[in-house]
Amino acid sequence: MTAPLIDPFQRPVSYLRLSVTDRCDFRCTYCMSENMTFLPKRDLLTLEELDRISTAFIRLGVKKLRITGGEPLVRRGIMTFFNAMSRHLESGALKELTLTTNGSQLHRFADDLFAAGMRRVNISLDTLDAKKFSDITRWGKLDNVIRGIDAAQNAGLRVKINAVGLKGFNDDELLGLTEWVASRDMDLTWIEVMPMGDDIDGLTRLGQYWPLKELRAKLAEHYTLTDLSESTGGPARYVRIEETGQKVGFITPLTHNFCESCNRVRLTCTGELYMCLGQEDRADLRVPLRASEDDALLEEAIREAIRLKPKGHDFDYSRQDVAGKMSRHMSHTGG
Ligand code: SAM
Ligand code: SF4
Repeated sequence: MTAPLIDPFQRPVSYLRLSVTDRCDFRCTYCMSENMTFLPKRDLLTLEELDRISTAFIRLGVKKLRITGGEPLVRRGIMTFFNAMSRHLESGALKELTLTTNGSQLHRFADDLFAAGMRRVNISLDTLDAKKFSDITRWGKLDNVIRGIDAAQNAGLRVKINAVGLKGFNDDELLGLTEWVASRDMDLTWIEVMPMGDDIDGLTRLGQYWPLKELRAKLAEHYTLTDLSESTGGPARYVRIEETGQKVGFITPLTHNFCESCNRVRLTCTGELYMCLGQEDRADLRVPLRASEDDALLEEAIREAIRLKPKGHDFDYSRQDVAGKMSRHMSHTGG
């Protein structure tokens, strides 16, 4: 038996978030600048390498694999990877294969993703106003995303909407979005804007920061909220809206420290393993991966990296300064 991955703080690592590309067909203002320089294709792990690395993690006890990016569905040939991963679902080694997407291409992939064994997807959507949507994503079209959501639901995929809460942008849509998501029998999670790759095009995350505590209080003025104790080992906390029965999540990395139950690591599309979203510590897995066809070096590099997983992040807005902020963008580590 292969020993599972346990970090120095006795947290088992059972969840890998894998970024398959840094490219995207949107340019969300809080995530990317308008003029992004992307990595040269030769730096990216090939689809076969993504398979090898994912398979090594699954052998070492990873049970949940989330594919992200950039926009994962713009990676050429990505269905080949999803289809290959379905063997791990069939064997029972992997419990869940899932995806975070902007939804723009989902209408083309939803049926195939379901056929590959996917059952749930997270779709990012911050506003239901077409003009605001094209403002915040710069290049996106709301209609395409709605079409993607329709296709996902028709294919049988359970949909969770992820919305970034942005002051002065979608605070007026709190109830509208909540009710729309409930009316379509979807789940909803609000994400607090994080100081990643700050000062993009002169915008600062601090100016857009809408503490989810405020958002929650505003929701509580209209609905009866019951705290749910369930935890995914991640930063999300959940409430149930009694009037609709809907579950709403809040991801508040800046106001709630969730690190003690952290079960996840993130791999970039170039094979850098980040042991914490909020720290620069990382390990290069591409070198051991390419050094031999055997996976022994790779597995040892993974174990070595997990031995260095930090206790937690240092994000802190409380002093009205962005302490502990990261210079890299979410599209780099995949959110
Ligand atoms: N392109 C896909 C998407 O948009 O869902 C997957 C990658 S995206 C980086 C993953 C998530 O990160 C999205 O829900 C996005 O809204 C969120 N995100 C990006 N930049 C963020 C920031 N500065 N703070 C909080 N969330 C952010
Ligand atoms: Fe692309 Fe997702 Fe970043 Fe928006 S949040 S620019 S869709 S990677």
